[in-house]
Amino acid sequence: MLLQQLWQTKQDNKRDLARLIQATTGVTLPPESMFVVQIKRIHEYKRQLLACLQIIAHYMRLKANPTIASPARTYLFAGKAAAGYAMAKLHIKLINDVADVINRDPEIGDRLKVCFVPNYGVTLAQAIIPAADLSVQISLAGTEASGTSNMKLAMNGALTIGTLDGANVEIRDEVGPENFFLFGLRTPEVEVVRARGYDPGPYIERSPALGRALELIESGFFSLGDPTRFAPIVEKLRTQDPYMVCVDFEDYVATEERAAVAFQDKVTWSRMALHNIAGASRFSSDATIRQYASEIWDLKPAPVDPEVLADLTRHA
Ligand SMILES: *Cc1c(COP(=O)(O)O)cnc(C)c1O
Repeated sequence: MLLQQLWQTKQDNKRDLARLIQATTGVTLPPESMFVVQIKRIHEYKRQLLACLQIIAHYMRLKANPTIASPARTYLFAGKAAAGYAMAKLHIKLINDVADVINRDPEIGDRLKVCFVPNYGVTLAQAIIPAADLSVQISLAGTEASGTSNMKLAMNGALTIGTLDGANVEIRDEVGPENFFLFGLRTPEVEVVRARGYDPGPYIERSPALGRALELIESGFFSLGDPTRFAPIVEKLRTQDPYMVCVDFEDYVATEERAAVAFQDKVTWSRMALHNIAGASRFSSDATIRQYASEIWDLKPAPVDPEVLADLTRHA
């Protein structure tokens, strides 16, 4: 009963968000699909590009196997790039162009939708976070100091697909590893790969899905036939790939598919979501300030005069 209500509440929030996105972007989202959300500043280390390549690979899989049973997904992005960060701006353009092609494809319909919601800020975050089913926290291990949207999303009943990076580590400990979709290299493994002199080439060769996704971008398929528009992205990925998108790609695709299959079982999914909500209490402002007071400030709670407290309560 509780789990059914939790599912229903999430559905209500998704419908509200779909209405908002319809009004602001004109894109129609199916509220029954799994809402996969990546909202944060656009930066190469946060790997929006990995998320985008997974979407392209998923799109190509649906096109090649039109009758395949695959749970419906809605992928939502939001975030700003620093004004002078040309590569990040180009990533935004790529996600928008991929969304445009996929959302217009009549063969795909409601099985796959993509939207980059513009003007990310706290107001938009307040609408997106309660409507998220899956929280995308996929920075290369060793690059994110903490992250905070990962906490906000878990606290609001999204499950995380994430690397063992930043506060994902503590979130996974608190909510339980069985309620967290972990993938990707660990920090020491990243260091080993880097120390050996990382070359993305062999990883692309070993992943036909990744190779085909890159070739589709290079063909101009998402840029009205213009093969140059996204050349800087693919060129950098093929030659440098400083955040090891190509290494983590296959594991990310497989783990995302596992999450989508798990989403089909509403009761089990809602139970996992509830473990996230409860576990995330560790990141509440009450718990955090209490921890600061004891560990950093060495402060004891001030004794409160019962009469003053009664007075405060009366006026509250
Ligand atoms: C929480 C939040 C962030 C930080 O997100 P991270 O995923 O931790 O980088 C940025 N912008 C807004 C509007 C937020 O609410």
